[in-house]
Amino acid sequence: MQRDIYDEDHEAFRDVVKEFIKRHVTNDAREKWDAEGEVDRATMLAAGEAGLIGLSVPEEFGGAGMLQDYRFRAVVNEEVIAAGSGSLAGAFGIQDDLAVPYLVHMGTQEQKEKYLPRMATGEIIGALAMTEPGAGSDLRGISTTAKKVDGGYIVNGAKTFISSGATADLVVTFVKTGEGNRPDAFSLLLIETASEGFDHGKKLHKMGFQGHDTAELSFTDVFVPEENLISGREGQGFVQLMMNLPLERLSIGVAAAAAAGAALDWTVAYTKEREAFGQRVIDFQNTRFQLADVAATVDALWAYIDRALLAYSKGELSAEEAAKVKFWATEREWDVLDTCVQLHGGYGYITEYPIARAFLDARVHRIYGGTNEIMREIVGRQLAGKK
Ligand SMILES: Cc1cc2nc3c(=O)[nH]c(=O)nc-3n(C[C@H](O)[C@H](O)[C@H](O)COP(=O)(O)OP(=O)(O)OC[C@H]3O[C@@H](n4cnc5c(N)ncnc54)[C@H](O)[C@@H]3O)c2cc1C
Repeated sequence: MQRDIYDEDHEAFRDVVKEFIKRHVTNDAREKWDAEGEVDRATMLAAGEAGLIGLSVPEEFGGAGMLQDYRFRAVVNEEVIAAGSGSLAGAFGIQDDLAVPYLVHMGTQEQKEKYLPRMATGEIIGALAMTEPGAGSDLRGISTTAKKVDGGYIVNGAKTFISSGATADLVVTFVKTGEGNRPDAFSLLLIETASEGFDHGKKLHKMGFQGHDTAELSFTDVFVPEENLISGREGQGFVQLMMNLPLERLSIGVAAAAAAGAALDWTVAYTKEREAFGQRVIDFQNTRFQLADVAATVDALWAYIDRALLAYSKGELSAEEAAKVKFWATEREWDVLDTCVQLHGGYGYITEYPIARAFLDARVHRIYGGTNEIMREIVGRQLAGKK
């Protein structure tokens, strides 16, 4: 089905992204990122130079100023995933969808001036640290504290599963600044990882996204100046997270649709080439039927995601709509990738093949950004008329 949400500016930008991919997303680069468990800084700097990150950073702070139009970000996500590098797509996504928005939408003028220009160039890598060893879905159960002292805060605690956590220079960190677990007991602090008492901890070994770092972080008496309190207002952290989570979930939805679409293309190409019993694998009726189902699912995914992209760009994507997009898209992605791995036979299990890597990457889409159970909870509560 023809998609119609992009105009010529988006398509011109797609050419820029494709050119970047041709130069930087080579097999050698991908193997290096996988071996080192992170995307190297030179690639992030090149992405900054080519204008692929910092898309929502206003022009006055050195960015592309595409705040209102998320379709440009979707183009980057789609193309990098179609090129078989979920890890690079992940690294870009953390920068642009999880870290930068807190500064762009909620940062003080001083915070924007200090950090955004270098986030747009890739000189500063950002991360978002909410999850802790003892609290993931139940975010109000965190125990990292920020105690008010003269001129700032002293932070103590630990975070885990933090994407870009090993390479980050600046971490948007969810901390407790009050007693109990009322929404106003939490704040977001911008913590520079060069601060004394901050430790990147160890990189975690994952089943997928091998080339993108995920790490534990620890904070031991880390002093954070009060000007690094996001928005300059204490007690707003929970509300601020809730404001940006729809974007994180839409971004995962786009990644899911892109992976499903790419899997269809890879599998059609593979089954046309591969022969069994004297014919091409695509000539078996079972293969064509399975691929027909996949093709219809991919069309439905894009139709849904495209509506959500337009709604977000108009400022109209609600938390519940984003939650629906996230769980529905990632579950369709999972079905599609499983079918496509099967149609590749044994080669589908070998990580040299993009289909195997995409399958392994996809598994976490149903877990992070809020698990799909929590997504259903958000939607179900609204249907039940609960707050
Ligand atoms: C690769 C990776 C990258 C990540 N990146 C980041 C990051 O950059 N920043 C960050 O802060 N976090 C990150 N996370 C953490 C991720 O968001 C959490 O793992 C996720 O939210 C789930 O939290 P949890 O692991 O504590 O699971 P738990 O909350 O312990 O959940 C365990 C199970 O219980 C279910 N469950 C929990 N509560 C309910 C409920 N109310 N109703 C029904 N079922 C429920 C869950 O759905 C799940 O199936 C990442 C995780 C991974 C694996």
